[in-house]
Amino acid sequence: MQVRLEKIVVLGTGGTIAGLAGDPAHSRHYVAAQKPVADLLGGVAVPAGSEVLSEQVAQVDSKDIDLAVWQRLLLRCQYWLAQDDVRGVVITHGTDTLEETALLLQSVLAPAKPVVLTCAMRPANAPDADGPRNLADALQVAACVGAQGVIVVCAGQIHAAAEVQKVHTSRLDAFGSGDAGPLGRIGPDGMQLAREWPRCGKAWSAPDVQALAARTAWPRVEVVYSHALASGALVDALLDAEVTRRLGVPPVQGLVVAGTGNGTVHHALHDALQRAAAAGVHVVRATRCAAGGVSSTGEEAFPDSRGLSPAKARVALMLSLLPGQRARRD
Ligand code: ASP
Repeated sequence: MQVRLEKIVVLGTGGTIAGLAGDPAHSRHYVAAQKPVADLLGGVAVPAGSEVLSEQVAQVDSKDIDLAVWQRLLLRCQYWLAQDDVRGVVITHGTDTLEETALLLQSVLAPAKPVVLTCAMRPANAPDADGPRNLADALQVAACVGAQGVIVVCAGQIHAAAEVQKVHTSRLDAFGSGDAGPLGRIGPDGMQLAREWPRCGKAWSAPDVQALAARTAWPRVEVVYSHALASGALVDALLDAEVTRRLGVPPVQGLVVAGTGNGTVHHALHDALQRAAAAGVHVVRATRCAAGGVSSTGEEAFPDSRGLSPAKARVALMLSLLPGQRARRD
């Protein structure tokens, strides 16, 4: 009898995991997003009972992710996740904006199957490249019975989309999950889960995902930073209709303020944000601190980011400002 293999689909988007150094002996100098995803899989162990397919969705340094890449990725994830014989999806991605892509996919697709993002801190042709190990671990997680939701696998750690954050510029274990800690670990002794897989929540309907992927622009949301000696000048400039017109950009609909400590904001910047809110701009308070989130007493002028970092709060606010998404925001 022929055993039916379950498919794991690997979607390549670029990043250092697909990077190449001109001189592998000096692999700190490299160009990201060079090697095709099919080649990254060469020599990587395939989990028992699985068949691995790959597809190149993009080939970018993730610092340069644009709307078109996110839209293609959403559509390809949606397509593959809907196939009965697909067990899960793995995405090779740059580390720089990986957490934003993870949150986007979790928020929109809320998948009941695993979508595992993985990455590397060293290019593919470095003698001590970390990509192959990370990719093999990601495939194992995608093949794991019961795994669901958007997950990040890097350096033997498994993180959930909601908490994961790049916390180091150069270490191989560049990601952390703040106070929550990683979901689990994966290594030579197998996988140990410390917490439940992310809950799958409520996915957007298929037509809503298609509409999101077809929009020529998503709501413009900017991040501003509170700091010593801050002023409101940046916010006022962002709201200036003449500046907006001259730059040919859509008007700002949302602002995330990366506040100090527990989401506190310099009074001059706070005044400007209040002017922005009075003009109809949605303002959310996050924190510059790497961990701890922002808690509210209910008396603050602006809602907090519900534990999300400024970069992720920007994604969440942007999605919530799309037409028809008010119910999700309130
Ligand atoms: N700049 C690279 C990227 O995000 C960094 C990395 O992948 O580590 O694509």
